[in-house]
Amino acid sequence: MATRWRRARTFLCSALAAPLAMSACDADPEAPPPPPQFGSASAEALVAAMTLDEKIDQMHGTGAIDELFEMAPNARLGIPGLKMVDGPRGVRAGHATAFPVGAARGATWDVELEKRVGEAIGDECAAKGGSVILAPTMNVLRHPAWGRAQETYGEDTTHVGAMATAFVTGAQQHVMASAKHFAANSIEDTRFDVNVAVDERSLREVYLPHFHKVVRDAHVASVMSAYNAVNGSPMSESAHLLRDILKGEWKFDGFVESDWVFGTRSTVGAALGGLDVEMPTPVYFGALLSDAVVAGQVPMAFVDEAATRVVRKKIEFADALAPKIDPARVESAEHLALAREVAVSSMVLLKNDAAALPIGRAPGTLVVVGPLADFANLGDRGSSAVTPSTSISPLAGIQAAAAPLDVVHIVGPALTPADLSTIAAASATVVIAGLTSDEEGEGLITKGGDRETLSLPPDQEKMIADVAAASARTIVVLEAGSAIVVRPFVDDVEALLMAWYPGMEGGGAIADVLFGDASPGGRLPVSFPKAEADLPPFDHTSLEVTYGFLHGYRWLDAHATDVEFPFGFGLSYSTFSLANVGVERDAGKIVVRVDVTNTGARAGAHIVQAYVGLPGSAIERAPRDLRAFARVALAPAETRQVTLSFDEADLSIWDAAASAWKLEAGTYAVDVGSSSRDLPLHAQIAL
Ligand code: BGC
Repeated sequence: MATRWRRARTFLCSALAAPLAMSACDADPEAPPPPPQFGSASAEALVAAMTLDEKIDQMHGTGAIDELFEMAPNARLGIPGLKMVDGPRGVRAGHATAFPVGAARGATWDVELEKRVGEAIGDECAAKGGSVILAPTMNVLRHPAWGRAQETYGEDTTHVGAMATAFVTGAQQHVMASAKHFAANSIEDTRFDVNVAVDERSLREVYLPHFHKVVRDAHVASVMSAYNAVNGSPMSESAHLLRDILKGEWKFDGFVESDWVFGTRSTVGAALGGLDVEMPTPVYFGALLSDAVVAGQVPMAFVDEAATRVVRKKIEFADALAPKIDPARVESAEHLALAREVAVSSMVLLKNDAAALPIGRAPGTLVVVGPLADFANLGDRGSSAVTPSTSISPLAGIQAAAAPLDVVHIVGPALTPADLSTIAAASATVVIAGLTSDEEGEGLITKGGDRETLSLPPDQEKMIADVAAASARTIVVLEAGSAIVVRPFVDDVEALLMAWYPGMEGGGAIADVLFGDASPGGRLPVSFPKAEADLPPFDHTSLEVTYGFLHGYRWLDAHATDVEFPFGFGLSYSTFSLANVGVERDAGKIVVRVDVTNTGARAGAHIVQAYVGLPGSAIERAPRDLRAFARVALAPAETRQVTLSFDEADLSIWDAAASAWKLEAGTYAVDVGSSSRDLPLHAQIAL
């Protein structure tokens, strides 16, 4: 190549007129051509011009952590480095807007809103000099006791896929996103060592479709492999998932990066298995990878492919990689308002007897009880933690909005006779109860880890019971990352509001909902069982676990188990009715139309859900699966036709014997309604 260039150059210099060729011909005739440059050359050309060490430099973090995790630039070829930062509820670097956690945002069922959250977090990431946001966490919640339940959107693949796709679409307007943790990552305490045995059909239909969607529909730039193993292969070296499925079948053209520190387990296995980038530091992908290539254990083509994937995304996101530090875009008034809007939309009103809520503003006393009342409970302190410069506790939010009511705070959890008299004399009592990062969170980093129980701590259950016995109007606000077993107290309280970990503006949002300045807009993205025993077992101590085909509402429905609050459920300050369902096939899609009416006196949002089953199927199935949903905001008495649609192909099942997707012929039942257990409208479609 170089010789050919020299010959051509000699010919040109002798043939061309001197003034034209002079400067080029003055240069050293033996010098190689200048290397291709980022900005004008393709990823393939840039990688072809790299030495082995330069290629490997594109395949790992540098170990430098100045709040952001770095990957090195290549100055010779003008290729910028990358700066990565967590995470799912905001940027984990200095102060940043702390949004409600993923579970809360899942409860909004609002893809447009989630896209705006993704955009805001991406914007803050870029404004802090980041180029990759390590989010979204999008593992299906197999069991609510998972310590990191709060980071993801919920228990259903269709719903998680839609929310994650929205987040990535928004975030990638500014930076790359890294969808994590691929795949079947939903136990914390054993996360580094656990092997998840899962049959191919469950894997394909339950644990992967949401990742497929975020690759196909949001074109996510990066996928983070999980710590755990699946069917015997650590995820960072699972050729079946990384090479065959993700890069092969789904045509993912971005890069796979490992989870941090213990996420890469080998050099040859990981490189052959399909890992492109080791983070955060080169233990296996530095000198060891170079040696393995020289020894012929890793063909150069694998290194070329990995480096090309990284460089390709840098080219696509070139604008995002140019530094744009801008503190004014972090915690902006607009982002804070968004955090509050999302928190309001995420709150799920689970019970509201005798119109206990909203609390009117007549003069009187409102008692706020609980040690969590005076604490802005932002959730886990692990890699998803965000530190805002200020935050509003529930008590502060209530105090700011309560006038002319007097607000009295009783800390508890133990209540004295005097406390109980104050409660008995008050117009209403709000109990703020729930969990903190002490009870659930990312393992090893905080005390959290997986939950030992789905119940509240006993002292909080007692506090609620004592308040309920003294007060005629007990309103319980729960903060947690997923389901809580509320059976011990739910019948004794008048109202129950699930507030999740509502972010830095959470206290204001709780007050908005309690006083009726806004209607609670959320619906459960996770089933609340009556008892933990109603769910499949959660084993967070064994190193071998099996994931089956059913969990969450699909398990509860298949076992015809009574449920406390079903998946998809939530009340509003208004009421809604559904009518006139119709279903048709249209160019590979199933389109469901339904009229939704706000039958109440207040504006509010309803979430219409379409579930599909195949009665009499020859194959094991859940009775029905969520296939589409839409959030619709309606004024009082307003009716709107809502269109829900999904691909016919979504109804296919994985035929393990044939290793292929197959659509079973039959008449599918389309059930439409307001939760997985409230489906009053029925239609059928023959396929
Ligand atoms: C977590 C990831 C996170 C990474 C970097 C890991 O321990 O599992 O979710 O992105 O750390 O902080």
